[in-house]
Amino acid sequence: MKYFYKNLSIWLIIGLAFILLLNFFKKAPEDINHIQYSDFLKRVKSGTISDISINENTITWTNSNGEKFKSIAPQKPELVSPLLASGINVEVQQTKEPHWFFKTLLSWVPFILIIVLWFFFMKQGGGKGGGKAMAFGKSKAKLIDGQKSKVKFKDVAGVQEAKDELVEIVDFLKDPTKFTDAGARIPTGVLLYGEPGTGKTLLAKAIAGEAGVPFFSISGSSFVEMYVGIGASRVRDLFKEGKKKAPCIIFIDEIDAVGRHRSAGGGGGNDEREQTLNQLLVEMDGFEGNESVIIIAATNRQDILDPALLRPGRFDRQVMVPVPDVGGREQILKVHAAKIQVADDVDWKVIAKGTPGFSGAELANMINEAALLVTRMKNASKVTMNILEEAKDKVMMGAERRSLIITDKEKRITAFHEAGHALVAWMLPGADPVHKVTIIPRGKALGLTMQLPEEEKLSHPRSYLLNNLCILLGGRIAEEIEFKDMTTGAGNDIDRASNMARKMVCEWGMSEEIGTISFKGDPAQGGQGPLISQKTAEKIDRAVESLIAQAYSTAKNILTENSKTLDAMSQALLDVETISHKDIKKIVEENSPHVS
Ligand code: ADP
Ligand code: ZN
Repeated sequence: MKYFYKNLSIWLIIGLAFILLLNFFKKAPEDINHIQYSDFLKRVKSGTISDISINENTITWTNSNGEKFKSIAPQKPELVSPLLASGINVEVQQTKEPHWFFKTLLSWVPFILIIVLWFFFMKQGGGKGGGKAMAFGKSKAKLIDGQKSKVKFKDVAGVQEAKDELVEIVDFLKDPTKFTDAGARIPTGVLLYGEPGTGKTLLAKAIAGEAGVPFFSISGSSFVEMYVGIGASRVRDLFKEGKKKAPCIIFIDEIDAVGRHRSAGGGGGNDEREQTLNQLLVEMDGFEGNESVIIIAATNRQDILDPALLRPGRFDRQVMVPVPDVGGREQILKVHAAKIQVADDVDWKVIAKGTPGFSGAELANMINEAALLVTRMKNASKVTMNILEEAKDKVMMGAERRSLIITDKEKRITAFHEAGHALVAWMLPGADPVHKVTIIPRGKALGLTMQLPEEEKLSHPRSYLLNNLCILLGGRIAEEIEFKDMTTGAGNDIDRASNMARKMVCEWGMSEEIGTISFKGDPAQGGQGPLISQKTAEKIDRAVESLIAQAYSTAKNILTENSKTLDAMSQALLDVETISHKDIKKIVEENSPHVS
């Protein structure tokens, strides 16, 4: 598109220049006789001229034979009268006037240039989300023609329930009259909510693709600008455009950026955001009956949305787009694997099992990483199981940082730290099996212990959470046992353990001291909790401390009782950097014979 406008302006300029040149060389036909001014006066005196016409200082007339004559009169005739009186011939010359075409063109050139440049910058700015200054009140919605949106429901995998809820919308967009005739009311707004990367945008696109209608997409955050009033005018503009293109879909990503609960978030109200939100509500209420414009909004913070947004007639249909379960992951993997070369050894079931918690976006990313890894390899052309494993680690924890310079001491500390996590996890019955342990730094982590649940669970018993507390603390405890010292490396573990313990006490009612009362903060109130008395606050703190202390002593017992195994595992890590489930099994069997 950009190139199209660039080419257009170039051709315009060339064309104009060509016309100019033609006109420049073209001489007007001369069938008029030019007469000196003095001659003209003589003819007037002698009476040979009867009628003349004067245009500015050009005098024209026609003689009895029909011949045309012209003479130019001086600006100030009184100056030449004495000369004429003395019989001098006076010729008056006209300053050469440019051709009219040239004149008009000249006056238009700046405008044409400005218009051409404006077009040019608009096109350029639009593409990169720039050009803000020029498109002030305009909504920044990208219009993707529905006919061209190739995304279909089959491209969105593992979210069958959400799809089931949305087919009705597709039917409506395909044939609105069928619904209006039946007197059915179709929701104006659909709210898709779920974790980032679960396919909300993809679903909205698929609806447009299935129904073959245009798709406007805009991010809620782009409504909220520095200047008051801009957001509201953008919303107005967006809906105006949408109505023009109906039936169509307007997709608002990250609606929480505008739709946050109006009283939430301290520091006074945000006028701009409130105005924008009000405008959005007004526009949605403004739909009379069935205008075949469907607003789909996406958010991962449905809990902080202003209740006004969720009232009937607005986003009254809410569809959850969940993080996929193991079967969903397998389907998503297969959808994306269709685009790459896959070796025979790849079992998507196994991969799906090994990627708990992965969102659709992460799975897509993993497949992409695997494809990239293959292109870098000399002796492989297809994605194998090993390559997928490598890609998974990369997506999960960032790229390996083999170049990171680590001292031998640090390496030893990391080895014991990870072995500590792994050994505690291994010894605790009911904990997720240890999949692998590595001391190759990735992203921010110096090492990693990866556990894989045998089967996915939707809720966790208290014993499982207690086990996790022990495993989290195992790293630090192993460091203490071996080096009689502490490092900052355990910071993240301690953070996670404390959060988990606090949740067990305040949200899940898992401590005897507090009992089954929730002290969870209200997200709509900016995470602020209910009023708690000083006494209760102290009780909560003590309950959290006791959970952590209990986990600490359990983990410490395991590690001291199996110190030989801890040493052996750390040594193995120092030798080969990464050990698998099988390696650990062998080490434990050799060094802790009492464990079956
Ligand atoms: P969200 O809008 O929920 O943050 P997106 O729809 O933008 O997530 O997902 C990003 C990318 O991840 C998609 O373009 C797609 O490649 C992949 N993806 C996410 N969910 C799915 C899914 N359920 N099926 C197939 N691909 C998915
Ligand atoms: Zn750790």
